[in-house]
Amino acid sequence: MADLAGKTALVTGASRGIGRAIALRLGRDGARVAVHYGNNEAAAKEVVAEIGEDRAFAVRSELSAPDAAEVLLGRVEEEFDGLDILVNNAATVSYSGLEGTTPEEFDRVVAVNVRAPFFIIQRALPLLREGSRIINISSMATRVAMPRFVTYALTKGAVDVLGRTLAAELGARGITVNTVAPGVVETDSTAAVLAAPGRKEAAAARSAFGRLGRPEDIADIVALIASDDARWVTAGWIDATGGSNL
Ligand code: NAP
Repeated sequence: MADLAGKTALVTGASRGIGRAIALRLGRDGARVAVHYGNNEAAAKEVVAEIGEDRAFAVRSELSAPDAAEVLLGRVEEEFDGLDILVNNAATVSYSGLEGTTPEEFDRVVAVNVRAPFFIIQRALPLLREGSRIINISSMATRVAMPRFVTYALTKGAVDVLGRTLAAELGARGITVNTVAPGVVETDSTAAVLAAPGRKEAAAARSAFGRLGRPEDIADIVALIASDDARWVTAGWIDATGGSNL
């Protein structure tokens, strides 16, 4: 358990899946948490209730909108006097492949997965305190070729580059920037793909441990990076795939 008492955290896409598990874990470790969501207000409110109404609040921002960062951080600023942990977790998935992807789909995925985290970090800069953490959630898809997911994968490649590049710049302020890259994790975003017969077993077999990832597997790694013990780790790309495709 990391001691995050007195720390503040913003987790994007915290209403469901991996983001939900991250918000709950950071909350359990003592942080006050801004629980960002897109459409699922009820789910976000459940996360807030589980952390405790006195230590968490829900904030809506549609991340495909150009003013997403302003809407999000404007609200965070009203609640917190500074930010210690920023987790860019929210993302949208696309599996239309090279031939099936339209320019509209491409632009939407880039807006949510790349533009939003970029401007969220930019807008959060004045709030981020000395010693704070930026943790971006990437994907195994930047290490292993997944042709159907080409658009999604290239947005995550941009997230990888963002982390390494900003780590160099923000180190001067004592801010670490790290990237956590999950493999296949059972969440709503993978439910449809994993529903086909045999898919779950095949995905589980990719991992050295022979099972699918759980949201908590990723949340625990994020908590590790958020802890003081990880203060000397920056520009890290943490393989959170359970040893997939080795
Ligand atoms: P998920 O279950 O689909 O949840 C996505 C979250 O992001 C939800 O809270 C959703 O909010 C929010 N979100 C999505 N699009 C949004 C938008 N346009 N505007 C605002 N909020 C939006 O996803 P997940 O599987 O937990 O994935 C979380 C992260 O892990 C993502 O970065 C994903 O790329 C990465 N990842 C996942 C896997 C996997 O196997 N699951 C593998 C590798 C990497 P609402 O529900 O409120 O709309």
